[in-house]
Amino acid sequence: MELIGLTMEEMEKVLVELGQPRYRAYQIMDWLYKKGVGDLGEMGNIPVSLRKQLQNAGWLLPSVRIRMGLSAQDGTKRYLFQLRDGQEVEGVFIPEDKRKTVCFSTQVGCGMGCAFCATGRNGLVRNLTAGEIVDQVLRIGHEEKARISNAVAMGQGEPLANYDQVIKAIRLLNADYALGITVRRLTISTCGLVPGIYRLAEEGLQINLAVSLHSTDPEKRDELVPVNKTYPLTLLYQACKDYAETTGRRVTLEYTMIKGENDREKDLQGLAAFAKGWLSHINLIPFNQVPGTTYGGSSKERMEYFRKHLRQLGIPVSIRESRGEEVWAACGQLRAALTFEGNGE
Ligand code: SF4
Repeated sequence: MELIGLTMEEMEKVLVELGQPRYRAYQIMDWLYKKGVGDLGEMGNIPVSLRKQLQNAGWLLPSVRIRMGLSAQDGTKRYLFQLRDGQEVEGVFIPEDKRKTVCFSTQVGCGMGCAFCATGRNGLVRNLTAGEIVDQVLRIGHEEKARISNAVAMGQGEPLANYDQVIKAIRLLNADYALGITVRRLTISTCGLVPGIYRLAEEGLQINLAVSLHSTDPEKRDELVPVNKTYPLTLLYQACKDYAETTGRRVTLEYTMIKGENDREKDLQGLAAFAKGWLSHINLIPFNQVPGTTYGGSSKERMEYFRKHLRQLGIPVSIRESRGEEVWAACGQLRAALTFEGNGE
């Protein structure tokens, strides 16, 4: 049983069952989430007898261990985490002036099978628990001695396919007694699970939503993002628009630019039509070469051309800044951009 991932209410319940006063819950939560300790032995103001009680009851800490970290020149750092069952997931630390962002994983592997994603190739292994999700952010903050200001569910896995644990993690990332990250600085990225988008809109959380669009041509999107066969573009379009209306948050449309696949003139028109007239923002993403695929990235000029034309139409658009290109990649491309194997521990 994992201590990290418990809410205040759950922690109080654990302590009451152990015959301990409730106020101990506040002290333990402080050690777990504010100080980020990875060992019961480090909880200075918690009596040794209570620490032993917790241990004997099977409560474990931490949920994930850093196996290794790999830094890029600009300070971006990619982490490989080992889970208690030996599985591995990745996270990324992205420092930019005052903003310190962690990109975290939500599943081991992924069942969505996006065409240019290495994570999706081996299918879903298992969902992460809320504790394993939160602990990635905690371990990185602790290691970097940084107060994490932003967190994005953009690593391995489809967050909305692990809905309950991801929402629990999001609430802990946001809770004052836990990490205290402002909800407007939390982002969930989905490949387009329409029912999950509607459910998220009703959570009462003003969380940012990013959608991996990548094409507005039905056949092309079937190929690039196969979930399109289940939740086609018309349904996705309505869900995105409704999300923006319900939450008042701008929806980011992620568009990885692939040469000859989604960067033609008709693709530009399709993208503009999809994004125009509601609270959207297009994020054009340079393609990261993935071994084993024949896709190639659009040129910088082509990306600029898309940006210029979308902007002229009054559509908010940006090109994702290349941060830590050696270690960073888009959703699910983390494992592909660079392999840890052979880099030593
Ligand atoms: S791109 Fe994201 S949703 Fe698609 S297969 Fe990869 S990890 Fe899953």
